[in-house]
Amino acid sequence: MKILVTGGLGFIGSAVVRHLIKSTDHTVLNLDKRTYAATDGSVSAVVDSSRYHHMDVDIASSREVEQAFSVFTPDAVVNLAAETHVDRSIDGPGEFIHTNILGTYELLSASLNMARQRGTLDTFRFLHVSTDEVFGALGPDDGSFNEATPYDPRSPYSASKASSDHLVRAWHETYGLQTIITNCSNNYGPFHFPEKLIPLMILKAKKLEKLPVYGDGSNVRDWLYVVDHARAIVAALENGNDGESYLIGGNAERSNLEVVNAICDIVDSETSDLDSSSRRDLVHFVSDRPGHDFRYSIDASKARQELGWSPLMDFETGLAETVRWYLDNEWWWGPILNEQYSGLRLGNAVAS
Ligand code: NAD
Repeated sequence: MKILVTGGLGFIGSAVVRHLIKSTDHTVLNLDKRTYAATDGSVSAVVDSSRYHHMDVDIASSREVEQAFSVFTPDAVVNLAAETHVDRSIDGPGEFIHTNILGTYELLSASLNMARQRGTLDTFRFLHVSTDEVFGALGPDDGSFNEATPYDPRSPYSASKASSDHLVRAWHETYGLQTIITNCSNNYGPFHFPEKLIPLMILKAKKLEKLPVYGDGSNVRDWLYVVDHARAIVAALENGNDGESYLIGGNAERSNLEVVNAICDIVDSETSDLDSSSRRDLVHFVSDRPGHDFRYSIDASKARQELGWSPLMDFETGLAETVRWYLDNEWWWGPILNEQYSGLRLGNAVAS
């Protein structure tokens, strides 16, 4: 199958591209605009494959998207291109509207046009990768999100992702495009841009810098190893039912403070550069993110039953592997910290 992947130079997109090239016989065209979040190093393991192709494309440009479709004539689209950092969406929501909403619209339009022209509406698949954040926030005793949970987005990021999910569903109901939506919990693993909690804390802990934790650190996320997410996306593309949504999660709820303390302990044991003190002493609490969702939790039983998917990596093993990956791969994150993002606080609610 010829699969057009968008955002394949990003964290999850590159994991999907690596998985498709290494573990399947599909051919990939990676469309990526190369924003600050893109890195060539994240796909260096597969760029030499004859089944891997790349084009620099803004998915919100109809001209660029149409050109990519006419060159590649895909059998399927997997849409991961997005602006993804909640704190950046608070500071500047415009890019989130541009890419996450308009970009998804352009991909849907091009997919429908091509499937109609080529008479492939019955087989063409559009898989849209989304987030559990579209469902809003849970309290401590509110159970888990499932496919019937009403949408209740609360940040500019989650509102833009919710909008795109609704467009995808509308193109299925109105025009008969075969669509699948996956809503996943927080991911972690290699090639994660260091603005996000886990890589930021690993790199600050490595350098013995203060570890800023939002609020009192009690917010809870349900963590999934990125390779398991990539496997879920490909399983949904190959085995998912037309028009359905699947919630994907790792069944690994941890408070932010638990995650940061665990990172401190792993870095302490991997580096042995402290005598009796612990990196836990570097934790300091900072003002909370505006509108910070308290808890996310996923019931992934539908994905387990219908896709035959389940996570292979447990959180403790995955976190230790991730810490070791960052300690061993400064070639990847060093230039990012020097040229793109120095680790400063974002998201202070002054929208532009
Ligand atoms: P990321 O920020 O690491 O990467 C996004 C990629 O998209 C980058 O390579 C960037 O250059 C590209 N991109 C951005 N705007 C573009 C545009 N207009 N045209 C083409 N390319 C563009 O993101 P990620 O964490 O890998 O997330 C991928 C997808 O998964 C997103 O849709 C996100 O909403 C979703 N998701 C992420 C998580 C998570 O924990 N990271 C969890 C659930 C769902």
